[in-house]
Amino acid sequence: MICATCRLLQAASSSCLECGNALVVPAELTTEVIAGVTAVAKSPATGWRDTVALLATTFGFFAGTGVGFVVAGPWGAIALGGAAVIGGYNKQFWKTALTHRRQLHAIAAPIAPVAEAFTGRVQAHTKQLTGGAVAIATTYTLDGGVLVRRVESVPFWLLTGERRILIDGAVRIAAQTAAPMPTAVKELTQLGIPIRRRERARIAAVRVALQPDDKIVAKGTVAALQLFDGGYRDNLVDTLYGETGRPVWITGS
Ligand SMILES: [Zn+2]
Repeated sequence: MICATCRLLQAASSSCLECGNALVVPAELTTEVIAGVTAVAKSPATGWRDTVALLATTFGFFAGTGVGFVVAGPWGAIALGGAAVIGGYNKQFWKTALTHRRQLHAIAAPIAPVAEAFTGRVQAHTKQLTGGAVAIATTYTLDGGVLVRRVESVPFWLLTGERRILIDGAVRIAAQTAAPMPTAVKELTQLGIPIRRRERARIAAVRVALQPDDKIVAKGTVAALQLFDGGYRDNLVDTLYGETGRPVWITGS
């Protein structure tokens, strides 16, 4: 499932773990847009409408000719009279229609929250992801806007001065400038995201992996929380816990 609002991919659940909004299946992420205007053939009008149209065209011809003559002499008369006839003819046999197509829109990257910032170094806690990372965030972009996001993280420590803060829950790792990632389109397709052929070249991605000893800035509110998996009961630790709607915001330093 994917969040329609913040574009975070996540395991099936009723609402987004990060922002709390509705989730949809990736294929439903598109919105219908008006792609252009097209002309559709219309069966010739019959009955009085036909007569009215014919009369309107005829009057249009004489009116156009008259106005054209006054404005620009004989040549103006021919030009404007002719234009009125062409316009009248088109009106009778053609109608315009709007064409629709489904399109995947990118969203604007969110702005960092106003919260206390803690600068420090990453230290692993009990678990680590592939390659020893504690968090891996991928942002896929289309023309610079956010298309899809993936975040994988485990609880980890932030060593700041003499303090040790546990970072847990929802984390949002702010992406730096996205660069072309050769596997981006393939990965999106595998995730079931509909990609149009013409959009392929405009897709880029950035992957940030937080490794132990990386210097980061984490924004959020510190609270003393129970540490359950540290082997000690009744062990209160300073924790930056990312809650739904208020993820811990992490940027590189
Ligand atoms: Zn969301």
